[in-house]
Amino acid sequence: MLPFKLVYSEKYFLPIGEHVFRADKYRLIREWLLQQQVADDTDFVVPLPASEADVMLVHSPLYVNKLMEGSLSAREELEMEIPYSPQVVDAFMLHTGGSILAAQLALKDGVCINVGGGFHHAFPEHGEGFCMINDFAVAIRALQKRGAIGRAMTVDCDVHQGNGTAFIFGNAAFKPNKLPSWAAAALGAPQGATMSEGPSTDVFTISLHQENNYPFVKPASSIDVNLPDGCGDLEYLAWLDNALSSGLRQFDPELICYVAGADPFREDQLGGLNLTMDGLKQRDELIFRAARARDIPVMVTFAGGYANRVEDTVAIHCNTVIAAAEAYRTTPSEASR
Ligand SMILES: [Zn+2]
Repeated sequence: MLPFKLVYSEKYFLPIGEHVFRADKYRLIREWLLQQQVADDTDFVVPLPASEADVMLVHSPLYVNKLMEGSLSAREELEMEIPYSPQVVDAFMLHTGGSILAAQLALKDGVCINVGGGFHHAFPEHGEGFCMINDFAVAIRALQKRGAIGRAMTVDCDVHQGNGTAFIFGNAAFKPNKLPSWAAAALGAPQGATMSEGPSTDVFTISLHQENNYPFVKPASSIDVNLPDGCGDLEYLAWLDNALSSGLRQFDPELICYVAGADPFREDQLGGLNLTMDGLKQRDELIFRAARARDIPVMVTFAGGYANRVEDTVAIHCNTVIAAAEAYRTTPSEASR
């Protein structure tokens, strides 16, 4: 039995046909975790769909009505890059409900993983890049509205920049500001990545991503780390450590939303970074350790993952569960070492 819950529904499957986005990965993750006895049935909780009122804390009523009525324009549907159907909308509402539940359970248990979600390319008025509803942005606003939290931090480690999230929580003009990169330099990591700081409000957004990749317009996050093509484990982990330490020096969140994309993997079809499976697990460990040492609850969403072999995507996501189990089974003093 895990020391935290896994939020999952068999209805997370998105009926989008043959697609680079393998929407059966959620079911495969659950099956693998059970087969490998990482988790048992009692570790899983089933979410309810988000309410339209909660979704409208982030998305405009006009957009939500278009989703509910099926009145997106052809162009809007094209931009989403997945086919529209009422069943797909239902699945996104469920992933969003899952993220709300995961955020609530994270506050109770210290950590919670939504075996889904992470749709960080969804904007208030439109969806894009396989994302219809920005589930974890809705979760943050829903918990703020209920008075459960004031300040939250998003740590987005998907290979693609979290443009929707940055837009939703950003406000002021973008002022690039180079930060020192002691960790990367000390490790002798190749230079070439840049880190910049933008606006921050009650939600501090961090995104580590490949610079030369979708989305081509990147609204400013609080901290953006623009990684060069082919960036490997060592350099990536140094930048993550740097960005996270910098963010947590400036901002004191009551909840971290960790977007644990599997697509920085070296064999991803839509990513151009060079992380190994082990490097990705170290990434997870770094975040869980940093959060636990400071006693900040973490809710996890899984986001992208398009490895040549779907088994690899599934393994990377399962490793996130294993990393959390390892981090949260130890005592806090051990975790901070
Ligand atoms: Zn991605």
